[in-house]
Amino acid sequence: MAYNFHFDPVDLPPECQELRQEVRTFLRQEIEAGTFSPTGGKGSFSKAFARKVGARGWLGMTWPKQYGGHERSHLERYVVIEEMLAHRAPNRSYATADRQSGPVILRYGQEEIKQKILPQIASGDLCFCIGLSEPNSGSDVFAASTRATKTEGGWLVNGRKIWTSNAHNSDYMIALLRTSPKTKENHRHGLTQFLIECKSPGITIRPIINLTGQHDFNEIFFDDVFVPDLHLIGEVDMAWKQATDELAYERSGPDRWLETFSGLVELVRRAGPEPSERLAEGIGREVAHLATLRRMSVSVAGMLHAGKTPGVEAAVVKDLGTNWEQALPNKVRLLAPPSGDSSPESNDDRFEEALRHTTLIAPKLTIQGGTREVLRGIIARGLGLR
Ligand SMILES: Cc1cc2nc3c(=O)[nH]c(=O)nc-3n(C[C@H](O)[C@H](O)[C@H](O)COP(=O)(O)OP(=O)(O)OC[C@H]3O[C@@H](n4cnc5c(N)ncnc54)[C@H](O)[C@@H]3O)c2cc1C
Repeated sequence: MAYNFHFDPVDLPPECQELRQEVRTFLRQEIEAGTFSPTGGKGSFSKAFARKVGARGWLGMTWPKQYGGHERSHLERYVVIEEMLAHRAPNRSYATADRQSGPVILRYGQEEIKQKILPQIASGDLCFCIGLSEPNSGSDVFAASTRATKTEGGWLVNGRKIWTSNAHNSDYMIALLRTSPKTKENHRHGLTQFLIECKSPGITIRPIINLTGQHDFNEIFFDDVFVPDLHLIGEVDMAWKQATDELAYERSGPDRWLETFSGLVELVRRAGPEPSERLAEGIGREVAHLATLRRMSVSVAGMLHAGKTPGVEAAVVKDLGTNWEQALPNKVRLLAPPSGDSSPESNDDRFEEALRHTTLIAPKLTIQGGTREVLRGIIARGLGLR
């Protein structure tokens, strides 16, 4: 059925402005204390930092207090995420759990698990990874073949997941596993979500080194891994609905257009207060794109706040946002004037580091979390065009 997508304007309420100042003050103090560098020098995984963020009440912000949450709005959470990303704070140990694993457990997990796991995510103690992709099922996640077979008191898991970011640092994975064959009527049928402890006997995690030379991805082998019944998330064979919800959380946030933002910041620094007309125009164009993307993304946060599941709008934000951030490093390179400044105030080193880093990560941006082509398919279907 045809669907008209909406991006109604959302103005951030005054409490968001106060919160933004609070987060900025915290981040400035952390940078001054040497906890991290805004140019990303120290790497982005830090459990100690996660615990500090948790202690401030900035993890699980929208969840009920009974599960360690803070019952604040999606818009307040949005502001915190935006500031963390713009400062390149080390969020790798908590971002996945806070953004999508926690909300899935909150919505579909069993009561005992909610009480045990959610407060530990909110305090910054737990790191999660996402077990969707397999060697023969990437874009079509519903083709997953890693099996969970019923056994006494739980399930036995056998198979392989791949491209699992951060698995080597994670405490838990939420995995999509095959519990029954697909049916003729519904090719998405037969998959179930499970909470799996990453250190369970029978799990082998092998690193895959990425383009930047870093160990972020992994390949994971499951050999008769026992998962208790308590770790079943939602309905057996019906995960297609849950996994789709999860992607709406994953696709619309500021993390989908701020990954190469540091390049723009350093370009503005290098341009100084009196840029040439060409440079001012080039920067103006990029900032206009950024402002538009941000409004659309805030609008999706507003819909989440209102209890909606804006899957198509989230796909539009991810497609436009990742294409913009992917093209940005090359535009920065073409616009950048020669430095000619050898003074200690020059940002040459920061500029080169930002350009190096953003150029290297650019190719992945339109693949992770759903490829460009797949997103456009979702949008077309949402608009009733296919
Ligand atoms: C940095 C990064 C981090 C990742 N982290 C994780 C993670 O933590 N957990 C996890 O489970 N996965 C993760 N992934 C995997 C990611 O989700 C998959 O790479 C992605 O879904 C694409 O799957 P694939 O690589 O198998 O490519 P394929 O699905 O084989 O696609 C190959 C090409 O065909 C195109 N294509 C495929 N299907 C269609 C279609 N129906 N219509 C049009 N074109 C199509 C694609 O767009 C692509 O260009 C990560 C990937 C990256 C790059």
